Amino acid sequence: MNKIYLDNAATTPLDPLVIDEMVNVLQFNFGNPSSTHSIGQDAKVLLEKVRREIAEYLKVTPAEIVFTSCGTESNNMILKSSVEHLGVERIITSPLEHKCVAESILDLKKRKGIEVVYIRPTKNGDLSLEELEKQLANSEKKTLVSLMHANNEIGNLLDLEKVADLCKKNNALFHSDTVQTIAHYDIDFSKIPLDFASCSAHKFHGPKGVGFAFVRKSSGLKGIITGGPQERSLRAGTENVCGIAGMGKALEISMKNLENFSQKIKETKKYAIQRLKEEIPGVKFNGRSVEDGSLYTVLSVLLPYNNPMIGLQLDMKGIAISQGSACSSGAAKPSMVMMSILNEEEMENNTPLRISFSHFTEKKDIDTLVDALVEIQAIHTKI
Ligand code: PLP
Repeated sequence: MNKIYLDNAATTPLDPLVIDEMVNVLQFNFGNPSSTHSIGQDAKVLLEKVRREIAEYLKVTPAEIVFTSCGTESNNMILKSSVEHLGVERIITSPLEHKCVAESILDLKKRKGIEVVYIRPTKNGDLSLEELEKQLANSEKKTLVSLMHANNEIGNLLDLEKVADLCKKNNALFHSDTVQTIAHYDIDFSKIPLDFASCSAHKFHGPKGVGFAFVRKSSGLKGIITGGPQERSLRAGTENVCGIAGMGKALEISMKNLENFSQKIKETKKYAIQRLKEEIPGVKFNGRSVEDGSLYTVLSVLLPYNNPMIGLQLDMKGIAISQGSACSSGAAKPSMVMMSILNEEEMENNTPLRISFSHFTEKKDIDTLVDALVEIQAIHTKI
C-alpha cells in the first residue's frame, strides 16, 4: 500500500540531500571535535560551520547556539538552569505548551517550590497580552515567561516581539519553544529581545536526535549536563557530528526554498480546508489554524461526530495522521490543548484531527484523506 504521511508536526521525512550529507560525514568525518589532532579538528570545523550558519539565520552570534539532542532537551535545559542558576522563582506559562515544557515546569514547582502562573487561552487559543502584563507587574519575584512561538496542535502564533518587549519592560526572562517555527519562518532574534529559544532538526526534514538551544550571551545560563567542556560547558558530551551536519543541511535547504516551500504548503492547506468544508458538513477548525496568519504547516480539524478510533481507521487505509499531538495520540486522555479550548459538549460530540503538511504533501493526498473520511463517516453514522 502506498502510504500517505500527514503528520509532519510530529516529524518530517529526511530530505535525500540531508541523508547524503550525513552518510558522507559518517564515512569521512568521524573524528571527535574535542581531539586536538587534524581528524578531530576536521569534525570541529564542520560543527563550527553549522553553528555559524544557524547564527546567521537567527541573526545572533555563534556563541549563543548550543547543540543538544532535541527540542525536549533544549527546553529542559533552559527551564531547569533558569531556576537552578539564574534565581528564577516564578514561571508564567500557559496550558497550551508542549509536554516537555509543561512537565518540566510542574517538576520545578514540585521539587523547587517555584510559583507557576497560567495565562488561560480564549476559545480560539489566544493568550491575552494584557493578562500577561498584569501578571508580570504583579510580583517582585524573579520571573521567567515560557510561551511557545507556534502551537503544534492548533497552529496559533504568538507575537514574540510584543511578549519579549513586555518581559524586558518588567525585568523578566523570556523563553520561547520555537520548535515548530525554526526553519519554517524568517526569524530575527536581533530584533526580538527574547533570552532563550529551542529547535529540533526533525521538524524540518533533518534527523531525529539533534537540535539546539539559543541562549542569549548576557543571560548567564549554565549547563545541566556536566562532565566536559563541550559547547562552552553548557552541554557536556561528545557532539553528534553527523546529526549536526544533517541539521545544517536541512536548514540550508529550508532557507534556500522558504518562499517556494511555504507557498506550496499554504496552497495545499487552503485546498484541504475547501475540500473538508465541501465534503464534511458541520466540520469546524480549532484555534486559529484555519486562518491565514496561523502556523501554515498545521490544520486542526474538528469532525462533527465522536469517533476515537479515527486515527486507527485512517491508518488502516494507509493514511498516517494524528488525532492530537504525537505525545497525546494513542493516549486515553484528550490533549491538554483540546481540553483548554473545547467545552465538555464539544469534546463529547466531536473528534479532533490534526493534518500537518510539508512541501512533499500533494493535493491528491488531501483527496485521498477526504475520501477516506467520507467513507468512515458513512459507516460510523450507520452504526
Ligand atoms: N516543542 C514542540 C512545540 C514540539 O512540537 C515538539 C515535538 O513534538 C517538541 C517541543 C519536542 O521536540 P523533540 O521531539 O525534538 O524532543
